[in-house]
Amino acid sequence: MSVLITNVGELVTNAAPGAGFYAVRDAALVIENGVVAWAGPAREAPAADEVVDAAGRAVLPGFVDSHAHLVFAGERGAEFAARMAGQPYRAGGIRSTVAATRAASDADLRANLARLAAEMLAQGTTTFECKSGYGLTVPDESRSLALAAEFTPEVTYLGAHVVPPEFEADPAGYVALVCGPMLAACAPSARWVDVFCERGAFDADQARAVLAAGQAAGLLPRVHANQLGPGPGVQVAVEARAASADYCTYLSDADVDALAASQTVATLLPGVEFSTRQPYPDARRLLDAGVTVAIATDCNPGSCFTSSMPFCIALAVRDMHLTTEEAVWAATAGGAAALRRSDVGHLGVGARADLIMLDAPSHAYLAYRPGVPQVRSVWTGGTRRE
Ligand SMILES: [Zn+2]
Repeated sequence: MSVLITNVGELVTNAAPGAGFYAVRDAALVIENGVVAWAGPAREAPAADEVVDAAGRAVLPGFVDSHAHLVFAGERGAEFAARMAGQPYRAGGIRSTVAATRAASDADLRANLARLAAEMLAQGTTTFECKSGYGLTVPDESRSLALAAEFTPEVTYLGAHVVPPEFEADPAGYVALVCGPMLAACAPSARWVDVFCERGAFDADQARAVLAAGQAAGLLPRVHANQLGPGPGVQVAVEARAASADYCTYLSDADVDALAASQTVATLLPGVEFSTRQPYPDARRLLDAGVTVAIATDCNPGSCFTSSMPFCIALAVRDMHLTTEEAVWAATAGGAAALRRSDVGHLGVGARADLIMLDAPSHAYLAYRPGVPQVRSVWTGGTRRE
């Protein structure tokens, strides 16, 4: 069964020779066996079993959200409101979500995860990463990862999110738990290991220990780095050959140079700066230095409770000065690079047929019409989902 999507006003493929955003006008695309079988000018399109007329609309790769925390219970709307009224964001707020998550049933956690995954799909996200990090005990972290694995293959062990209250006087003991019995219970459900390397969370030596233990257990490293102030997170990520250093809000020249000389993606999370009134990272400095940049939501109940990649694209364009092309690339191919995936984030022949049709003639409308639902149809693996 093949499907021809034709009369596409703008087909974003990100699949030209050389990296970067790439789009074709008056285009068509053929899906067969769950992958892109052909893409090019509409007048040259081959026949197919089914034809979908895009009527001049834009078609893009599905968004790849490489950073999300979706296994949790409770909500922190009052904390957000207080922050908007002038209180600063502190990492310790995570602990209220930890208490609610530990108290929740598997069914409640699964239902919340399903609701957020459905929100993401409706907004065009076809691949998402999902972290643990609100359990912080062996059974609560391992069930968080098992639940996440029901929804995505991109599962990340984040036992080192924050030191839980019961280890307040013994952070070294908590790091030993994270690197030992907790890792052993969690590694079978996870692909990635992550650590929040930040003042108030884990220092450089603790972060190195967590990443090394995870790698020894077969997990691939990624790091929460330099969110709340300057620090060693980016250097730790590059040293560990992490797929991604996430946040990158406060960077030294040496941090930018290290990222530019590495395969580590800088994943920017503009929804967090929006929701915490922190300064945005200097995305232009990273791009101009040749760093690979991704955009993700960081969807979580504390610092940023949006599941919307279109919203993050609009922020990246308006407030971080990415071009519309750069922002869409960062939300698709950039996210794929941050997850070391070559099968998603583009629509070259052989790519997984994860794609979206906008109710708009070009990708630029994602930033031009912020806050307006514009994702008309979504395909994942060649199957129409929305
Ligand atoms: Zn995060």
